[in-house]
Amino acid sequence: MRIVDLIRRKRDGHELTREEIQFIVRGYTRAEFPDYQMAAWLMAVLLRGMSGTEIAVLTEAMLHSGVTLDWSDLPGKKVDKHSTGGVGDKTSLILAPIVAAGGLLVPMISGRGLGHTGGTLDKLESVPGFRVGLAPDKMRDVLRKCGMVLVGQTEQIVPADKKMYALRDVTGTVESPALICASIMSKKIAEGIDALVLDVKTGSGAFMKKEADAVHLAELMVDTGVRIGKRMVALITDMDQPLGLSVGNALEVIECVEVLKGGGPADLCQLSIELSAWMFYLGDKTRSVSEGRKLAEQVLANGSAFEKFCEVTELQGGDSGALRNLEKMPRARNRRDVPSQSSGHVQAINCEQVGIASLVLGGGREKKEDSIDPAVGIILHKKVGDAIAKAEPLCTLYYNADQRLAEAESLIYSAYQIGTDKTTQPGNLIRKVIEGRSDERTGADTKVTKAT
Ligand code: URA
Repeated sequence: MRIVDLIRRKRDGHELTREEIQFIVRGYTRAEFPDYQMAAWLMAVLLRGMSGTEIAVLTEAMLHSGVTLDWSDLPGKKVDKHSTGGVGDKTSLILAPIVAAGGLLVPMISGRGLGHTGGTLDKLESVPGFRVGLAPDKMRDVLRKCGMVLVGQTEQIVPADKKMYALRDVTGTVESPALICASIMSKKIAEGIDALVLDVKTGSGAFMKKEADAVHLAELMVDTGVRIGKRMVALITDMDQPLGLSVGNALEVIECVEVLKGGGPADLCQLSIELSAWMFYLGDKTRSVSEGRKLAEQVLANGSAFEKFCEVTELQGGDSGALRNLEKMPRARNRRDVPSQSSGHVQAINCEQVGIASLVLGGGREKKEDSIDPAVGIILHKKVGDAIAKAEPLCTLYYNADQRLAEAESLIYSAYQIGTDKTTQPGNLIRKVIEGRSDERTGADTKVTKAT
């Protein structure tokens, strides 16, 4: 087999065989052919697309390029959630404790924030002492003891993706749905899970701005997971405004603690409960999603989900005292309200600009190597549909250095659209549910679209 022939075959729109796709992934991971040939093949995939079978084979080939985790010695179903990322999207820190408190195992591997979106690892590291880089034995130990573990990607897991993603980044091939699907699904399946809930965001703060693109990616991911034998569902959810009220690492952890203690913003509670409910259902803990919802509400109300978060924090080296007494969480030295320049109702919030405002305060990264300030960020006081008087604060900025304060402020002003229409309401938080086809049972009480 020669790589040049496989580039030609994909260029001409042919379906590649399992052996051909395995040859490409294995050969590239072992540096048996150069970047320029892989780049040509990736571009051919972007332009020609891949069949469902090809995507599943590519996902498996990438998955087997490194180590895969195996928890079969630990009793119980292993489930996880993956979000395509957004602004104020902090549900992992809420739902992992809910689901572990409800009796399933959650071996969660997450990422860091980049650009306008935040990352679970950065949020966790704002808790004093919390370590996200655990050796495999330690990871197993934490998962066995408390039913959940929250860690970062290692070099050994899906090395093919690391190399391919770096090349895609500089060759204009990131946007291929087939490649995005294989990249995400290979990393998630490597976690050794039985079921996966996908939270695919759509809107101004999402990777996929158009709902149709989000649905297409969700269908590909659900279909790929089902082909590989996983129970799958994807929820298409709103990212046309930040989720919850807090944006910024420690501020978001504080908001998660509020939810885990039975309070917190309604949209964040609703989405966390909904995603947890699907995890319970797909992990066979409950017979329906509505039973899953009840179980999630129960572990929130009786405090066991909050205790689970404290327990995992201690096991991973963190100070759970900072979760019990939030004054011990990192706090910014300064705060500044951003007053509205007019009165009316909030018509829209450009979510990406809010994310960038948090980034310029020091809460995010422009480049992978940048360091972040865990304490800074934004608390929104107004969301879409809310009435606002002139000079009333739209939000409060929390900051330590004021070099880029004016920039953050002007981003907030351009993000908020204030108008006279009193009837404006936010879009539905959950736009669609796409359930895996091989699933005979239907536990959904929301409208379910089957993945094709
Ligand atoms: N996130 C990933 O992990 N991979 C992609 O290709 C795109 C987003």
